[in-house]
Amino acid sequence: MIDLKSMSIEEITELLRSFGEPAFRGKQVFTWLHKGVRSFDEMSNLSKSLREKLKETCLLTPPTVARKQVSGQDGTIKYLWELADGNCIESVLMRYHHGNTVCISSQVGCRMGCAFCASTVAGKVRDLTPAEMLDQVLFTQQDAGAEVSNIVLMGIGEPMDNLDNVLKFLELVNHPDGMNIGMRHISLSTCGVLPGIARLGELGLQLTLSVSLHAPDNATRSRIMPVNRAYDVDALFAACHDYFQKTGRRISFEYAMIDGVNDTDEKADLIAKKIKGMPGHVNLIPLNDVVESPFKPSHRISAFQKRLESHGVTATVRRSLGGDIDASCGQLRRKAMEEAQKGEDSQ
Ligand code: SAH
Repeated sequence: MIDLKSMSIEEITELLRSFGEPAFRGKQVFTWLHKGVRSFDEMSNLSKSLREKLKETCLLTPPTVARKQVSGQDGTIKYLWELADGNCIESVLMRYHHGNTVCISSQVGCRMGCAFCASTVAGKVRDLTPAEMLDQVLFTQQDAGAEVSNIVLMGIGEPMDNLDNVLKFLELVNHPDGMNIGMRHISLSTCGVLPGIARLGELGLQLTLSVSLHAPDNATRSRIMPVNRAYDVDALFAACHDYFQKTGRRISFEYAMIDGVNDTDEKADLIAKKIKGMPGHVNLIPLNDVVESPFKPSHRISAFQKRLESHGVTATVRRSLGGDIDASCGQLRRKAMEEAQKGEDSQ
């Protein structure tokens, strides 16, 4: 079956042309898909015979809501979506003053192995298609009845490990005949896969690149982030520098504060030293407690922030949303998988 929703207008037009349809049908079908229709029958301006032909040849398999948790504190909504093949992924809708942001997953699981992260515990199952990334935005918006204005690729998975599909997704979601979400309203987060950063830099997209730093020295970073053994801290900063030169876009460094691991003043001093000459910004994240992990949240966040600022480095503390609903990445999927496992064990 053809994955129609992962295709550009031009590709859809070409396909429909091969069915003997006129060129303008491509845009019609694309527009319907990006409105979030659930069946070809909803495409009311197409002939019945074309709708039948599309049903026979193309996929249209919206995800279903497997679980949904709404925060009583701030209206954050966490979705566990079940995909057509039974795999589950998460998205989170966050409501900010500047608009609604949806955090989406890029893979089923993750193979990066960060020691503090719930998404990677059971490894990677598969990459998501462009359509499966788009569907998270479309159906979160539809289900929540809240217009999405910003997207962050910070859910389950490593976007740079699925970059072809991620780039295609960006092209789709950015398209004026689709959701038309501007690149400046999109952030992509990576643990530091350097070939991906280089490739993205060449494209010069105006999105925001977030880099998960979490430690400024190789000993600590390699311990908590295996990717550092392949691409070390200095190579990472060099790649970030290059990225800034090429795109003119300031990089956001994510830094989850872990008790006794990366939260000393010396670490802040080293970050300041290495970030020098690059307009970067450090986003301090209160560590989410993951059951499987030995790491605990640090109590030194504001001291660390002050230390960074004393060196002239801008640092913000991420406001935690959805603290009452397992809203951090990978936790809901883990929980559902464990419960399914327990169910099987007890049978
Ligand atoms: N793979 C990408 C994007 C997904 S993770 C990346 O690594 O950037 C999104 C962010 O959440 C990353 O900065 C990641 O390091 C961070 N994160 C993972 N587990 C966390 C936890 N337990 N507490 C706080 N942040 C965490």
